[in-house]
Amino acid sequence: MDTTIFSIVQPEMQQPCQPVTQFDEQLARDIAMLHEAMKTHQESALAAIQLGIPKQIVAIDITDEQTRRQQFVLINPVIVGYSEDTALFKEQCPSLPDETIETTRAVAVKVKYQDPQGRHQQLEAEGYLAVFLQHTLDHLHGRSPASYLSPLKKQRVLTRLKKQLKK
Ligand SMILES: [Zn+2]
Repeated sequence: MDTTIFSIVQPEMQQPCQPVTQFDEQLARDIAMLHEAMKTHQESALAAIQLGIPKQIVAIDITDEQTRRQQFVLINPVIVGYSEDTALFKEQCPSLPDETIETTRAVAVKVKYQDPQGRHQQLEAEGYLAVFLQHTLDHLHGRSPASYLSPLKKQRVLTRLKKQLKK
């Protein structure tokens, strides 16, 4: 399995991902690949597009503030509610390596999604889980984590990543 993680400067990462309509073996393979990549790269959350799969699939496996393990595979996820409260967060992204991204995000979100069997589910998340969800769902909409950087920093980061891509 090729689990190379795409960089935000690759065009695939800038396009919206397609909804999943078939809950079949191909979807199971895509999910297996996501889990494999998370293990290989020791990542807590990945969107399928970060492996070049342009579908609305996200996998999360984190330990939250209460040291609970939170594992989710979300198909076609949509954030349907944001808390009014926001907070500053420092985020990292394997598609934007060696950079800390400071964001202001809602501290809690409500997400509707489908599970790998196609059943409709709803999740109310707060803290780390809410942040990971907001970050990863950005990828499904082609929104780059670099969009949270200052224009100057963004320019510097994009130049660096484009250079790295050519190697
Ligand atoms: Zn990311």
